[in-house]
Amino acid sequence: MYPVLKIMRMLNFLDTFSMGVTGGGVCDDHKKISPMDAFSLWHKDVPLKVVLFAWHLFWDRLPTKDNLLCLGVIDQASRLCVSGCGSLESSNHLFLHCNFFGSVWNFIHRWLGLSVAAPFQVSDHFNQFSCSGGTTKAHRSILQVIWFAVVCEIWKERNNSLFNVKECSVNQVVDKIKSLAFTWLKAKYISLPLNYHGWWFSSFTILGIG
Ligand SMILES: [Zn+2]
Repeated sequence: MYPVLKIMRMLNFLDTFSMGVTGGGVCDDHKKISPMDAFSLWHKDVPLKVVLFAWHLFWDRLPTKDNLLCLGVIDQASRLCVSGCGSLESSNHLFLHCNFFGSVWNFIHRWLGLSVAAPFQVSDHFNQFSCSGGTTKAHRSILQVIWFAVVCEIWKERNNSLFNVKECSVNQVVDKIKSLAFTWLKAKYISLPLNYHGWWFSSFTILGIG
């Protein structure tokens, strides 16, 4: 068995175990999460640490402010989203529904020529987004890579705003997402490095699956 698969199996086992012991984690009364099996998240074009980050996101195990509040790490006064939108910071809010961070998806949809209404939960969004750009395996795979890049850059930007008091515009975050996805895919698509400019404007066409 590949080491990665071993890690995934171990994580699935540990989380199943912890859910059985604790009853499902902190503040379960307001959590309605559809956790995913680690195997269904594994993607060979995405770094393992990013897949593991997404796995924690799906299980609502990130140190978002709602979780920190439930654990007593922060107080009520610190519970709001770092963007200044005025809402409580939860995973679903931060990655999907925030006026600032959530709006990143609008730019991504425009870039890819997609029309997708955001569901309430992050895990549903992963499934929906993956299937929104075509029926082929190649389409689904590339959209998953882009999805991982989006949540990765949203989390980085959230932490930059929170800890470094350094803020980017939505356009700058979107550029970082395009750049990160490009970096992950260029090893697989050998013509991609020659079409850096095209990737910015018409990603599917450049990859030859448009
Ligand atoms: Zn917000």
